[in-house]
Amino acid sequence: MKNLLGGKGANLAEMASIGLPVPPGFTLTTEVCASFYEKNCTYPKELADQVAQSLALVEARTGRKFGDASNPLLVSVRSGARASMPGMMDTVLNLGLNDQTVEALAKQANDRRFAFDSYRRFVQMYSDVVLGMELHNFEKLLERAKQRRGVKNDHELLPEDLERLVKDYKATVQLEMGESFPEDPQEQLWGAIGAVFNSWMNQRAKTYRQLHDIPESWGTAVNVQAMVFGNMGNDCATGVAFTRNPSNGANDFYGEFLVNAQGEDVVAGIRTPQELTIKARKSHGSDLPSLEEVMPGIFKELSTVRKQLEAHYTDMQDIEFTIQQGKLYMLQTRTGKRTAHAALQIAVDMANEGLISKSQALMRLKPDLIDQLLHPTLDPKAKKQVIAKGLPASPGAAVGKVVFTADEAVRRSKDGEKVLLVRIETSPDDIHGLHAAEGVLTTRGGAPVCDLSGSPSPAIPAAALLSMIPPTFKRQGVLRMRARGMTSHAAVVARGMGRPCVAGAGDVRVDYAANKFSVGGVTVQEGQLLTIDGVSGEVILGEVPTVAPQLSGSFGTIMSWADDFRSLQVRANAETPADARQAKSFGAQGIGLVRTEHMFFEGGRIVAMRQMILAADENDRKAALDKLLVMQREDIVELFRIMDGLPVTVRLLDPPLHEFIPHSESEMASVARAAGVPLERVRRRATELKEANPMLGHRGCRLAITYPEICEMQTRAILEAAAEVGRSTSKQPVAEIMVPLVSTLEEFALLKSVIEKTAAAVQKEQGVTLKYHVGTMIELPRACLQAGKLAEQAEFFSFGTNDLTQTTYGLSRDDAGSFLPDYKEKGIVEQDPFVSLDQAGVGELINMAVGRGRTARQGMKMGICGEHGGDPASIEFCNKAGLDYVSCSPFRVPVARLAAAQAALKDKGEKALQASTKATKPRNPAFGPW
Ligand code: ADP
Ligand code: MG
Ligand code: MG
Repeated sequence: MKNLLGGKGANLAEMASIGLPVPPGFTLTTEVCASFYEKNCTYPKELADQVAQSLALVEARTGRKFGDASNPLLVSVRSGARASMPGMMDTVLNLGLNDQTVEALAKQANDRRFAFDSYRRFVQMYSDVVLGMELHNFEKLLERAKQRRGVKNDHELLPEDLERLVKDYKATVQLEMGESFPEDPQEQLWGAIGAVFNSWMNQRAKTYRQLHDIPESWGTAVNVQAMVFGNMGNDCATGVAFTRNPSNGANDFYGEFLVNAQGEDVVAGIRTPQELTIKARKSHGSDLPSLEEVMPGIFKELSTVRKQLEAHYTDMQDIEFTIQQGKLYMLQTRTGKRTAHAALQIAVDMANEGLISKSQALMRLKPDLIDQLLHPTLDPKAKKQVIAKGLPASPGAAVGKVVFTADEAVRRSKDGEKVLLVRIETSPDDIHGLHAAEGVLTTRGGAPVCDLSGSPSPAIPAAALLSMIPPTFKRQGVLRMRARGMTSHAAVVARGMGRPCVAGAGDVRVDYAANKFSVGGVTVQEGQLLTIDGVSGEVILGEVPTVAPQLSGSFGTIMSWADDFRSLQVRANAETPADARQAKSFGAQGIGLVRTEHMFFEGGRIVAMRQMILAADENDRKAALDKLLVMQREDIVELFRIMDGLPVTVRLLDPPLHEFIPHSESEMASVARAAGVPLERVRRRATELKEANPMLGHRGCRLAITYPEICEMQTRAILEAAAEVGRSTSKQPVAEIMVPLVSTLEEFALLKSVIEKTAAAVQKEQGVTLKYHVGTMIELPRACLQAGKLAEQAEFFSFGTNDLTQTTYGLSRDDAGSFLPDYKEKGIVEQDPFVSLDQAGVGELINMAVGRGRTARQGMKMGICGEHGGDPASIEFCNKAGLDYVSCSPFRVPVARLAAAQAALKDKGEKALQASTKATKPRNPAFGPW
């Protein structure tokens, strides 16, 4: 009943109903909050009566009376929305105390110090939280009281000191607020309730909701609960615990407690808390005894509660408890936050323990968690000097010597140095440098916005947002920077290669001429050590030690379970042997996209490529192509060897030729020299190749239509490689030759005939029969419409969803970054369509093409090779659309395997989750008994 009772209230009721010792209380529902705002900040008229009745019930169960002068009931007032919301009101404890009831409390506890300390805390908390006074008013007075008594610690104050302190506190309230502190418990109660409802609309909460897409209409609940005291003596305590270790997932009870303390004391860090178990005490080398030793009976009871909670919620729980005079009370439970590593371990363990099924274990893991496990991370214990912050664009931590050009990165890495590439921004020319570097830092890429979780967020200036985040939240380190620019070139390429990337660190000033950068008074020269953290976006001076990714046993287990459930195959997009090997080790079932042009950017190859482009006639062009043939064949041989009989889809040359030719005068001069052609010809060719709109220009299959010899050379390279590898291994390579940017059957038919002719020649020369298929990319709307026709000739389809998205929307991906955030903010698009497939538009085209294609050619093989192939939501779509495989960057392969399994489970209507969690019958919002 979370929606009605809020998370905290629902779980308190749930715990009470399974027989756990929960202090009695009641919940004002989220509906009250909704009505409060609908009706101009007034309560429903029946509320007062219902609160009185519920309070009477709590009084009956506790045997106390609210506001009674001899046997008073004290309560806590706690806010609790549906989703946990740190922007909301803080809890008020010990409510119901006044000058009369405090005397009764003192008498009953036989402890004046305790009673007045509780009173003092209450006045302070209430004044802060409900009346909105500044805490320093009270801290000043507390300091003065300690000075007067000549003591250092709060607990050394005598009862009379505390009594006087309460008077001083109240006097301050009178002075600051112009009215006296409320003595009437009813007034206190309604004051606190009102404060919770009002806090739903405070700026902090509003911002938090906006960032997390929490609707305003949800409202918050208010929990009123009888107080129990962990601070009534040495047989009392308060603590927090996780039912399993939240950092490594081990099945150990993990928590802390403090003897003779209340509420937040444990997390406040004033006294050193004690461990729960002997094992933890020993492993942390603590000299304070554990709960297991101090209160063995309670420890046993708490261990039983731990088991009960896990059995009931079938997940790791984060709990709060209090021990009052040797009796245990449960004050909160919720699903515990955990690291990616722990999430995996816990899911596997719980499935092995039979608490959940394998499919539940799979469904419970967010595919993106896997991402975090595949990269080295900064050693959390290390000291670090953060000099700048950018966007966490590609996860993982990287350390290296700063370099400012791709060539320098390659040069130094060849000498065995680890380098970090620092650029204002990157372009396809920098690919080799990105590859050689440990990581990349860019300074351009849009203004940072701030987000607390990584979910899509409207653009809010970071500074404005930071000022609204409560300090405790900042301390917990939950704060993450995130922004537009996540799809910048450096970010996309770095993610694809698994290189950590911090993008758009706008404060960093790069001076290419002087080989240095500066930020906030710090200057960093080329060759100096720098560390970047692609998870936090931090740029850190010097070397921070990193810890290797832990591909523990549970990781392999989850992957193998995923493979059992999924029907989609997972391939990788890879050009280099390193990427192919990486992909294979992550379980890729083939290569779905080899972008041949990437091979021509590397090292000396660009020279041959440029010679080809600058050739004066066909003969010159053929001579250059012969050189390229050798290199291309070598590369593909490697890929076939690594993939060992798994299919390899090679795409023919795709980008417009002008991308290979530089445009500045000095660069053109050096190209002319390197290619051995007159500068004049380079200039002329550059002008000839210049296009108004290259994305829609002379590229893709259109190049091969004009220059069939390029297609011939590439086909020859692919098939000669297949023949060569086929001779030396038992597993025949499977070559899939893919034609890009096709929009008409005639284009495809023409190139297919070139390919077939070349293939026939190669097979004849080599005296072998080769396994090869010729298919097409589907990346233009016209190709989708004509899919039936294309399928007559094409043996397979591969959906190139990057271009298909660009052409369906008529939206250039390189230009979308500047205004897409406005679209998101105004709710026009929910998701960047280049990150997550636009299912309504682009998806419709894909569905149409799949249908038309398979009608023409039964069982036709189809896959997707755009960036979307690694996005979980898009993978779910591909599964529904009936594709055979998704292909993504190597580091996304494990993510895709898990996402594919989840898609299959969802699709099969896998209801195991609901079936095994016990049916929940509606309960009375009141909870208890003792
Ligand atoms: P938060 O959501 O910030 O955790 P809580 O409502 O859980 O706030 O309360 C803050 C602290 O007060 C916790 O340590 C909790 O255990 C304690 N607390 C809340 N209600 C009671 C109560 N009825 N008796 C004793 N301690 C309480
Ligand atoms: Mg709590
Ligand atoms: Mg394309």
